[in-house]
Amino acid sequence: MGKVFLVGAGPGDPDLLTIKGLKAIKEADVILYDRLVNKKILEFASPSTKFFYCGKDPNRYALPQEETNKMMVALAKKGHTVTRLKGGDPFVFGRGGEEAEELANYNIPFEVVPGITSGIAAPAYAGIPVTHRDFSSSVAFVTAVNKTGMTKEQYWEHLANGPETLCVYMGVKRLPEICQLLIKHGRSIDTPVALVHMGTSEQQITVTGTLSTIVEKSHQIKNPAIIIVGDVVHMREKINWFREQADQAEMSLSLSTK
Ligand code: SAH
Repeated sequence: MGKVFLVGAGPGDPDLLTIKGLKAIKEADVILYDRLVNKKILEFASPSTKFFYCGKDPNRYALPQEETNKMMVALAKKGHTVTRLKGGDPFVFGRGGEEAEELANYNIPFEVVPGITSGIAAPAYAGIPVTHRDFSSSVAFVTAVNKTGMTKEQYWEHLANGPETLCVYMGVKRLPEICQLLIKHGRSIDTPVALVHMGTSEQQITVTGTLSTIVEKSHQIKNPAIIIVGDVVHMREKINWFREQADQAEMSLSLSTK
């Protein structure tokens, strides 16, 4: 019997992979990887490692979830060491829980290697701490796509009156609706909001505004992006440390016009 490692590859910057994750990549006979895994991380694998792409991408063939599950089980039964690489953390909106369940159902030995989730890392690289003693003592990691059984209205009402900071995954397309429902259920229209696209990578782009202005400023932001709602977003004005491409372009423009 082989073994499966469910590994979080981190949010984008390959250096944010854990040492345990790196070991699991180096030792893998087979790597099954998702769309949001930075391909540079795959270069750490041994030359004999086989790769399978399992992500959902409209322009490429992708394995349905059931096929991925079956493949992990079959490979481990054949005695292979399998590393299942997922973007961010495997147990944060990554269906890692379902994959672990499948392995448990078939008595396949497995280990979970947590990764740095984009809901913490993208704001950190945008100069936004998700908690801060002066602004927020609670944070919720939420998804705009949920199966909890609540109506959209109930879901956003509960979040509008819940934790001070919201980090919303998979929310870009629903941004207008999210802002509207949060305002409707009591969040101030002046609540700061940030959108961080491709956080921690060279392509990172951040846009900030408020619940009432962010939608009109958001046209350049596509998936994948994290939405951060709450007063902590103000911290970016002071501690924005990571230079995004847009900042670099602006800097060279201002230097060339001096
Ligand atoms: N397991 C992943 C999340 C998978 S769900 C994690 O822990 O990060 C996919 C969503 O994650 C995307 O729609 C987007 O909202 C977010 N996401 C993933 N990587 C991101 C990144 N580098 N920057 C911003 N958002 C990201």
